[in-house]
Amino acid sequence: MKPRITSLNVRDVEREELPVDVCIVGAGPAGLSCAIHLSRLLKEAGDEDRTILVLDKAEEIGHHSLSGAVMDPKGIAELFPDWKERGFPVLSEVKDDWAEMLRPGGGSLKLKGPLCPPPLKNHGNYMVSLNEITKWMSNEAEEMGVEIYAGFPVAEARFDGDTDRVVGVQTRDSGVAKDGSQKATFEPGMDVSADVTVFAEGVRGNLAKDLFRRLDVMDGRNPQTYGTGIKEIWEVSPEIGKEMHGKVMHTGGYPLDTKSYGGSWVYGIAENKISIGFVVGLDHPDARLDPHGLFVKWKQHPKIQRLLEGGKPINYGAKCVPEGGYFSQPRLHGDGFVFVGDTGGFLNAATLKGIHLAIKSGMLAAEGIAKALAAGDTSQAGLKGYQDAYEASWARDELYGYRNYRQAFSGGLFAGMLDFGIQMVTKGRGLVARRPGHSDHETMTPDSRSTTEAPSYNDSDSMDKLTDVYLSGTMHEEDQPAHLLVNDPSICVDRCTEEYGNPCKHFCPAAVYEWPKGSEAVVINASNCVHCKTCDIMDPYENIEWVVPEGGGGPKYLGM
Ligand code: SF4
Repeated sequence: MKPRITSLNVRDVEREELPVDVCIVGAGPAGLSCAIHLSRLLKEAGDEDRTILVLDKAEEIGHHSLSGAVMDPKGIAELFPDWKERGFPVLSEVKDDWAEMLRPGGGSLKLKGPLCPPPLKNHGNYMVSLNEITKWMSNEAEEMGVEIYAGFPVAEARFDGDTDRVVGVQTRDSGVAKDGSQKATFEPGMDVSADVTVFAEGVRGNLAKDLFRRLDVMDGRNPQTYGTGIKEIWEVSPEIGKEMHGKVMHTGGYPLDTKSYGGSWVYGIAENKISIGFVVGLDHPDARLDPHGLFVKWKQHPKIQRLLEGGKPINYGAKCVPEGGYFSQPRLHGDGFVFVGDTGGFLNAATLKGIHLAIKSGMLAAEGIAKALAAGDTSQAGLKGYQDAYEASWARDELYGYRNYRQAFSGGLFAGMLDFGIQMVTKGRGLVARRPGHSDHETMTPDSRSTTEAPSYNDSDSMDKLTDVYLSGTMHEEDQPAHLLVNDPSICVDRCTEEYGNPCKHFCPAAVYEWPKGSEAVVINASNCVHCKTCDIMDPYENIEWVVPEGGGGPKYLGM
């Protein structure tokens, strides 16, 4: 299948050519660990003249990186055995952990020690800021000779003629006006050619999405299933800061009903700060699902409200996570390319962890690429070493051990818990050998069945979406083509309004989609977009296409 339009670049313009050996799209932990490890392997092989280029859409490395985050140190300890001595940024070691089931009335059931579900035990793990980690890793990579260009979004993959061989990428044009005309500042994107392109775009990357459609990399796999995570960092009162420092609390229950999948976290990341967040599965049937609204309701539960009293929010962000696990991973390699990190589905949804898997996937890819370059064969066959090494690695064992975890919850909380209990004693099998998956938007039911009610907002702990977007530092050049493409606007008006009540006005955590009273068309406030990708996943007609905006646009996450 050929890709749909996912590039806003102008055609028929002369472009600068940039030949490199390996081009990595995305400076997250997977892309950067691939760059670092590959650089090291090439040097060991006496092949250090090769060029490794990393491109990232954020204005500065780390500005688009967001995670909870508690990190299993297994990955970084493999990449840098001396990671602690080198100054790898850690916020706090985990000193205590537990889970709580929140009751709608205000109480909760605390599950601690042997009662805490094993995947939520975090002793030996570390609280980190993904934003700081990626900055640190990019410095290490640059010192090793890796070229890193921030503020260079990639518009499209480049193919060798009519074949499916990826031969590099084209970066996004800048200086194009809203009406498509070229401004005085117009700069055409570069044509980067590479023997191997590494797609490390993070979750639901627009390039990987096209490759998934065009190639057979998802044949025999379950469709990926996603969750949307909403996060805030709070400066808290000295008492709460002291009480929570180094502690990890996960919650289930309120405000979700038993048909929904999701939960929350509270991490005591410093003596005066906590990281809080809420993730909800996008296979939720309610057309009025509002991940941000659920987060607000969760903050109003007395157990959480108590932690926020006397504090103030200082950062906000939102991002989707790939929850499908082992059976939802694409084939990880093809002619001239590999997938790593979230793009390759490297996330353990049961333990809520992906950084260690992202780092490991980058390292395994680097080993496969180094061998392919040495052999002069970067075809699908030449890069198969990466897939084979993954299948023999601890990363595969970990994901395979939870292979049916997320799908078991598609039948509701109780069915999921029963199956998960059986999975724990059958090494991840559960009730059936392989549970099927589905695309999240397929589960949405007509708006007439919606029961979700909007939360009540206030200025103290329950900010509305626009107040939160302000805390994310999000900015885009206003005079540029919208990077949220509605393929057929008539579907929004003629069908979606009637059938689903325009769910985009609910699910976007940045209030990008508005249907003003009396309006017959959606208003898209694209400059508010925090690049979470929920709309690209959840639109019931697959009518919304997220594409990269001009360089530097998007959130400015700090400490997230
Ligand atoms: Fe997320 Fe889409 Fe809203 Fe942007 S427009 S914040 S990608 S849901």
